[in-house]
Amino acid sequence: MTKTWSWRQLQAADAQSIWHPYASATRAPEVYPVASAAGVRLTLADGRELIDGMASWWCAIHGYNHPVLNRAVQQQLEAMSHVMFGGLTHAPAVKLARILTDITPASLDRVFFSDSGSVAVEVALKMAIQYWYSVGQPRKQKLIALRNGYHGDTFGAMSLCDPDTGMHHLFGDVLPRHFFAPAPDVPFGERCDERSLSAMEELLAAHHQDLAAVIVEPVVQGAGGMRFYSPDYLVQLRALCDAFDVLLIFDEIATGFGRTGKLFALEHAGVDPDILCVGKALTGGYMTLAATLCNRRISQGISEGEAGAFMHGPTFMANPLACATAIASIELLLSQPWQRCVQRIGEGLERGLAPARELPGVADVRTLGAIGVIELKQPVDMQQVQPMFVERGVWVRPFGKLVYCMPPFITNDQDLAALTGAMVETVAAVE
Ligand code: PMP
Repeated sequence: MTKTWSWRQLQAADAQSIWHPYASATRAPEVYPVASAAGVRLTLADGRELIDGMASWWCAIHGYNHPVLNRAVQQQLEAMSHVMFGGLTHAPAVKLARILTDITPASLDRVFFSDSGSVAVEVALKMAIQYWYSVGQPRKQKLIALRNGYHGDTFGAMSLCDPDTGMHHLFGDVLPRHFFAPAPDVPFGERCDERSLSAMEELLAAHHQDLAAVIVEPVVQGAGGMRFYSPDYLVQLRALCDAFDVLLIFDEIATGFGRTGKLFALEHAGVDPDILCVGKALTGGYMTLAATLCNRRISQGISEGEAGAFMHGPTFMANPLACATAIASIELLLSQPWQRCVQRIGEGLERGLAPARELPGVADVRTLGAIGVIELKQPVDMQQVQPMFVERGVWVRPFGKLVYCMPPFITNDQDLAALTGAMVETVAAVE
């Protein structure tokens, strides 16, 4: 492509040919052409700079155009950009698998790579179901998921999203039917009472013979409402799953790699799942890569069962460029005092968003780790609000009643103040 497109040409051509996520094709909402991104700034095609509050949907923890990650991609590109993973292996995949098994709970010792978060969830589902089939309990095929949960947009993952409030109710009739327990309603800092788990216990007691697993997003329910809940819930959930012989799956696709103040949100509870899904920030937002980790019970059960093999194999599984970037991203994160960075960001978000508590249209303001949320009493009109953020020089993408941010960990205090200031001002103006 040698042609240089103007802002308007890009927008017009985009509107003609591209279908954007969660959007109409014929009444397409305005999209903003980005020319480049560096550090915490997105530079639009007309030269305007925006402070990024979204880290590209949880991914870009180190910011954009990072020299260390750039070098990792370039070096790997010289050696090999991609090879199939059936019958072949390579150092980037092996090294990354070792790193992942080292930094997650010791019981998780096997890694299955895939190319997106949703597929990592599909893999987790298939592992759980195939495990029970392999050990002679083929009836155990159902899952319990949580109300307000979100696990992705593919069919299996959709079937685990809240069927009423989720985005996928349209497909309800063709999705597999699972069970849903109420979302935990105990705030982050509090101990979980028995009442909040009783509905989960009832479901487990009534259906355990048909249940393969329970799946939850630990501590933070993301796309289903940006809700934070007590880690103690997870401790008790683990005990219940053990009591009823049902597997436990944690979806840390959004929360993994430091976002909640721990490297993985499960560390707030000290609980090991049987299966763990990671993605998003795995490569620092550079490449599309995800992974499903499991413990020996699962890998042995499946491998020594009737099928003898796990029946899944995405074409771009363990892409070497993505694996090399993930190694660089995790090493970069761990080489820094990242907990202090996340804590500093959390404090900045708390300080900066606090004035929103005084606004009459605001239902709640909450922060956890490097996540800041303003929950409104009424949903906002994205079409109206998005330009207001852009005018104020920040990139924040509101959703329903939520105006939230999860900025890159490198965001400095001045940029944080600008970001949170723009969020509060915009919410006040919308009111
Ligand atoms: N699980 C969770 C908790 C997520 O937040 C997401 C993405 N928003 C997914 C799964 C799906 O990941 P992907 O978009 O990479 O398929």
